[in-house]
Amino acid sequence: MGSAALKAHHFLSQGPPPSNMDIDILIRDVTIVDGVGERYRGSIAIQGDSIIEVGQVKAKAGTVINAKGLIAAPGFIDPHSHADWWLPWYPGCESAVMQGCTTVVAGQCGGSPAPIREYTRLPGVIHDEVYERSPYLYHGPTLMRLDEVNQILLGKYGWGIDYRIMAEFFSHVAAKGVAVNYVPLLGHGTVRFAVMGEDYKREATDGEITEMRRLIRQGMDEGCVGLSSGLDYDPGVFASATEMDECVKALKPYDGVYVPHWRRTGRRRDVKMGSYQAEPINGIKEVLDTARRTRVRLNIAHLAPGWHINQPLTPGIGAAVGRATLEPIDEAIAEGLDVNFDVIPWECWEPLPYLCSLHFTQWLRLLGSRARLAEWLRAEEFRKKAWEEIEQGRLFQRLVINPCINPHWSENLRIVEHKDGAVTGGSLAMAAKKRGKDPWNTLCDLITEDPDSRGAHTDYRGMEDQMTEFFKHPRGVVGLDVGVMDDRDVENRTPPYATPLPDTFTGYPKFFIRYVRDRRLLTLEEAVRKCAAIPAATFRLRDRGVLRPGAYADIVLMDLEGLSIVGNPELSATYPTGIRYVLVNGELVVKDGVHTGARPGRILTRDTLQQHE
Ligand SMILES: [Zn+2]
Repeated sequence: MGSAALKAHHFLSQGPPPSNMDIDILIRDVTIVDGVGERYRGSIAIQGDSIIEVGQVKAKAGTVINAKGLIAAPGFIDPHSHADWWLPWYPGCESAVMQGCTTVVAGQCGGSPAPIREYTRLPGVIHDEVYERSPYLYHGPTLMRLDEVNQILLGKYGWGIDYRIMAEFFSHVAAKGVAVNYVPLLGHGTVRFAVMGEDYKREATDGEITEMRRLIRQGMDEGCVGLSSGLDYDPGVFASATEMDECVKALKPYDGVYVPHWRRTGRRRDVKMGSYQAEPINGIKEVLDTARRTRVRLNIAHLAPGWHINQPLTPGIGAAVGRATLEPIDEAIAEGLDVNFDVIPWECWEPLPYLCSLHFTQWLRLLGSRARLAEWLRAEEFRKKAWEEIEQGRLFQRLVINPCINPHWSENLRIVEHKDGAVTGGSLAMAAKKRGKDPWNTLCDLITEDPDSRGAHTDYRGMEDQMTEFFKHPRGVVGLDVGVMDDRDVENRTPPYATPLPDTFTGYPKFFIRYVRDRRLLTLEEAVRKCAAIPAATFRLRDRGVLRPGAYADIVLMDLEGLSIVGNPELSATYPTGIRYVLVNGELVVKDGVHTGARPGRILTRDTLQQHE
């Protein structure tokens, strides 16, 4: 916002508004949940990019929205987003805004789009092209030369990555416009790659750490609000505690936030029989210790249980694990540390999407199609060979579905669609029992019978009782951990034929349906705080996350009773119903459930956040 607009806004927010004033938008007769704990009926007056009056409003408006029966809440602020890797290609941010999200805090899990030198991570939009150019069996390249990436981008889109630093990335995004507000984080992994290049599988030298600190200060000066890390991923997994302390310390003069993807799994490559598995609770303690030593504010990314428990949980055990996971966090808060955390609403973290996608990815790559795999799976010798590959752990399998280390794996694998209706909707374990065979051979049989059958895995981390503990905690908020899409039919051409996670399209509706409307585990007021007001406070997003005069007009109008997830969420990328209107900076981006094409989003850099008085 320009300074003239700022002053005008400042003037308008002083004192009572003139009666019968002319305003831009009036939202009439709505239930207002303002994000600070109040719920009341009234109207909302919007002028320019701001709310100028809430409650009993007398005004003539250019646009009147009769919102009877709807709930007005501050637009949802996603504190854990990967949108920055998609914004240049999907500026409409439809998947986010159609579910009520108006602001994303992106650059998570150690990965921001810049700074870049010779090498870069791959933007998700060229996944298939990279594979087709240089096929691989197990793991794709972590890094690629920037000139190679740009060659692919130029061929596909006619433009390439022309930015090297965050400030240039912001200009790139701003030039295209963006539908939601973007709050930038710097990624420790990106910084580490910039400094160490391909030689990152080791501890950094003192000189390299000094250079990382310099780049972090530069990123903060350019407007980032904090630093993320990805301690399960290349290259963050190789960082020492000293390196992390030194990097995080650089945030202190800026009042920046440290946002760690903490160690939950350890490095996700070459997890052979007997490999070390990270103990998640130690990963949580590790980042709390970093905050203790550096006194930097902490937002723990995607909190999950501190213990890997393979056995099916009882509600009591689930709740106990949830509470025990929170104990070290509560201790840190009691000591005076500023700690928040976010939690992913969907319990399904990775749709497969095909039943054959995860356990057979390398074979799909080798054989070229699901049909060919199905043919080969008829051969006993091939099944044995495929099993041996799993035992060798060359392709990362999450603990929940890893037959090699989890005897209950088949209970977590759901058959979403299959020619045999008798097994559809149940778990692989149920199908195996029905057919009187072991789970592995049942899986092979099911793929043989229907190569295109669909699957998903439900995750013990999503167990209702422990998630409830997290969400009930005063510092626990909703974070989606996804990118943004303007397309709804997104499926990679190449194995494992990945599709977007369900949270991409329906994370917030899922949260409101499950925790507020149907199970009443949280009040509507609490839920709105967790989706807007608390994340706004964590990232110092002044005058956002609340509905009151003087706040920016980021607003969602939601029909809570009519809120629903359309179609099969594990499979399809479908917009929810019930999110009726969404305004970003006073402009309608969703109108009567339809995206208007508007791109009123802003890049909320540190300087712009400080400006708004
Ligand atoms: Zn992560």
